[in-house]
Amino acid sequence: MALNVVFLGPPGSGKGTQAERLAGSRGLWHVSTGAILRACVRDGFGPDGTAGNPELVRQTAAILKAGQLVPDDLMMVLIREALAAVPAGSSGWLLDGFPRTAPQAEGLISLLAELGSDEPVVLEIFVPNEEIVRRLSGRLTCSTCGHVTAAGLAVEGDPCRVCDGHLAMREDDRPETVRNRLAVFREKTRPAKDVLAARYRFERIDGLGSPNDVTQRIASVLAAAG
Ligand code: ADP
Ligand code: ZN
Repeated sequence: MALNVVFLGPPGSGKGTQAERLAGSRGLWHVSTGAILRACVRDGFGPDGTAGNPELVRQTAAILKAGQLVPDDLMMVLIREALAAVPAGSSGWLLDGFPRTAPQAEGLISLLAELGSDEPVVLEIFVPNEEIVRRLSGRLTCSTCGHVTAAGLAVEGDPCRVCDGHLAMREDDRPETVRNRLAVFREKTRPAKDVLAARYRFERIDGLGSPNDVTQRIASVLAAAG
């Protein structure tokens, strides 16, 4: 049976880092909707994969910059294509950044039933709000591979440890947008969690401590699942 994972957690919970590690260690196909959307904007595609619609690309860029959500209907097209691209014979997939609203969660449940996918385990990384704000202000992201470095460990323009790219502050990690993303998370993404938790196996992971501590907790929770 495939190991399919839905990763939930507010911005700054360490979700991206843990998703990267878990996908790497278990050979899972990593679907990061934020990374896909940033690539769409960079390469001039709409979230639904259409080229030649500059207005849609411009709107998407504005949504990302403001920390708002891309509309659910476009996200459903995106996730359907992302899951269709999972290589046959992979050990499973990992969703990072989706679903973010209750309708997206309902949509995912129908889509997985339609595709006959193995039921995912839902992992929520929990971190208190004050800690999140502290972590997000100033974190740096590789503009080539997306690798994240904590604030204080590097400065903008430093080389990436993973690839030959360079670190930069993500447009939406500026303080004003961070507050927005947290408000959106509270209002929209909590309900998505409730929808999934009612349907699939749900595990809450304590996101405090070092990244290695959290990786360890995730491994034990998954081992307990068998
Ligand atoms: P983070 O988890 O650090 O907030 P992501 O890289 O997951 O950031 O997402 C960045 C931005 O991409 C979000 O703030 C939002 O604008 C957009 N986005 C990503 N996933 C979704 C989604 N499932 N639905 C709507 N918008 C999304
Ligand atoms: Zn890199």
